[in-house]
Order: sequence, then structure tokens, then C-alpha cells
Amino acid sequence: MKITGIETLVCHARMRNWIFVKVLTDQPGLWGWGEATLEWHTQSVVGAIKDIEQLLIGEDPRRIEHLWQMMYRQHFWHGNGIVRGTAISGIDIALWDILGKVHGVSCHELWGGRVRDYIRLYCHLGGGKMEDFYETAPNDAKRFGDLAQQAVEEGFTAFKSMAVPETMSLEGLKPVKYAVACVEAMRNAVGDDIDIMVDCHARPSPRMGMQFAKALEPYGLYFFEEPCWPETMEDIALIQRAVSTPIASGERLIGVHAFREMLEKRAVSVIQPDITHCGGLSEARKIAALADAYRVSMAPHNPQGPVSTAASIELGFATPSYIICESVHKDVEWRQDVVSEGFTVQEKGRIVLPNNKPGLGIEINEEEVKKHPFQQEVLQRTFYKDGSVGDW
Ligand SMILES: [Mg+2]
Repeated sequence: MKITGIETLVCHARMRNWIFVKVLTDQPGLWGWGEATLEWHTQSVVGAIKDIEQLLIGEDPRRIEHLWQMMYRQHFWHGNGIVRGTAISGIDIALWDILGKVHGVSCHELWGGRVRDYIRLYCHLGGGKMEDFYETAPNDAKRFGDLAQQAVEEGFTAFKSMAVPETMSLEGLKPVKYAVACVEAMRNAVGDDIDIMVDCHARPSPRMGMQFAKALEPYGLYFFEEPCWPETMEDIALIQRAVSTPIASGERLIGVHAFREMLEKRAVSVIQPDITHCGGLSEARKIAALADAYRVSMAPHNPQGPVSTAASIELGFATPSYIICESVHKDVEWRQDVVSEGFTVQEKGRIVLPNNKPGLGIEINEEEVKKHPFQQEVLQRTFYKDGSVGDW
């Protein structure tokens, strides 16, 4: 059995171009689907996959770990940068899909079988609609409350918000008060039984991140995400020590070594590897094993397309420390047209029942994908009020 080629299918989905990866084999009807979506880096990732393709043609797709080692280590430069890491991830996910199909079982069966009955989903405020999630004004607490209510009406028991405004490295009380008002409005709207998450998008400086974390501590957040840059891991660890709120981070980290540092520093209670960036399902499984040794929970980053979601769900059914799956469902209205899925989502409670089809259990509708060719992603440029560059 041999790999004969690797194709990339780019599907423009407003904020992102989904990059679907199709690994082809010499066996009739046997191919695997992966995803390597990296917003604002679409053409670089497509090129990086092309660079890797020459390494894999003629190789046996079932030797996933061996091929992973080749992709990561060969040609001198290790695959721990975001572009190469994403390219490797997309191919790795597709190889697992192939292996499941070869053996006629789902990926989670390959990994030792189901460790839970269902997986809980959480949504973004507004369901992933860009304007609701990213552009609700920080001084519009009522809107945060209304969107929270809407998420619960749609069946979700957990949701994530961007209730921390873009903030200069030091600002006074105003942004902190905004964040408190927004979280209070959401808590009042949904009560104590619903889990609320706040994603800081690593906007704050370490000290502002600390102020936000302390101010929001009374609201019992499920987790508080990326309170400052991952480059300042020691400061994430300080915040984790200073509050009882579980701190989450990791969506920008590539490879097990980066997560080793995060875990050694006791920086988080929740790791958030992105399966489409961190090195794929192979690396995500090693990261999960490492996190297990620290009793840290896992909640993969997953705001991308449907192959990423299927990969996250398969991982979740075989990973004990996996607590919840990020999901978007209103980013584009034709989302479900490009994919058929093996798992099912129960509307009440938004829980996912397992896939029984081989591999990832999905098929991509290539004709539908062709209707949405590459376009430049919507640019997100952030400047503070004095004109200096900020974090989005
Ligand atoms: Mg995030």
C-alpha cells in the first residue's frame, strides 16, 4: 500500500479559509481526510504541504509514526513552527483516517476504544458568527447577556465569550469594569448551572491579565483562557497560582516539547492543543498522555472546519482527560453542506454521540467545496487609541 499524492482543497469560510487535506493511495477508493486550516497563512500552508508531499509519495500510509518522524525531522528544519506544524498536522490526521478505513473501525477504536458515552460541546457566543463573538462592544454588557441566553436556548450547557477588551499593556479600571459587567450580565442571564468561559485571546499584558483574572474570580468561570502571551509562560503560571479559576492555554503551541514546558511550570489547569497545528492526532495523543501525568484537563482548540471537529471528537472518545469540545455552527450557513459526519449531535444539551464509521467517519463533498474558492480572509487589524499596534 502506497501514498500516491496529497491534495489540498481550500474552502473560503469568511473568517478562515478551511484547508482540507486529502491523502491519496494506490488502493481504489481509499483516501484520508485531514485539515490544516491556519487563518491568514493559507497560501503558506498549502505550499508547506506541497513541500512535504515529495517526502511521502511511495510510502506506506499505515506507518503513521514513522511518517510523522520523517515529516518533523527530515530536511534539517524541525516541524515545530506554525506553518510546517500545521501542514504536518493536516497530513497526520488524514493518515489516521486512512488507517481506520483500512481496519474498518473508527479512530477511537484504534486507540483502545471508547472511554466515555458522549462528548459535551461548547459554543462561541453567537455560535461562531464573527460579528457576535469578536465585535460585540465591551461596554455592551446587555448584548453579552442576550447572546448567553440564546446559547442556552439552543441547547448548550457551556459557552465561551470574549469579554475582556483589547487593552494596552497598562490601563486603569475601565476595561476591568467592562469585563466584570459583561461576565455579570452573562451569569445573571443563565444562572449557575451553565458553564461560562472567557477567552482573553492573549490580549492583556501579564499584569492586566492578572487584574482581569482576579476581578472575574467571583463569577466561577469554567476556565479563563490565554490571560497573556504564551511567550510569557511564567506569567501565565503566576496567574494560575493567584486565582482559583482554572487557567487554560496552549492553542498556539506546537509539539510535545512546548506543552512539556507549560506543564512543568504548572501554568494551566486546562491544555488546549489545536489538533490541526500541534502535530496532528499523533502529537495530540502524546500531549494528552503528558497532561495525564499532571492531572491537567484537555479541551482542544477547535474553531476551524468540520474535519478538525471530527478529529477532536475522535480524540475525545479515547482520551480520559478530555473535558469538552469547542464548536462553531454559525460561522457560515452552508457548513453542513460540505461534510457528512459519522457522529451525531443531540440538540438537547448539545452532546455528541460516537461515530461508528471507519476512521474519522466523515466525507467531504468536493463539489460543494468548489463553490467557495480561496479569498483573502477578513483582515483583523488592531490599534490602540494612540495608534500603536495591539493584539486582536
Ligand atoms: Mg482562544
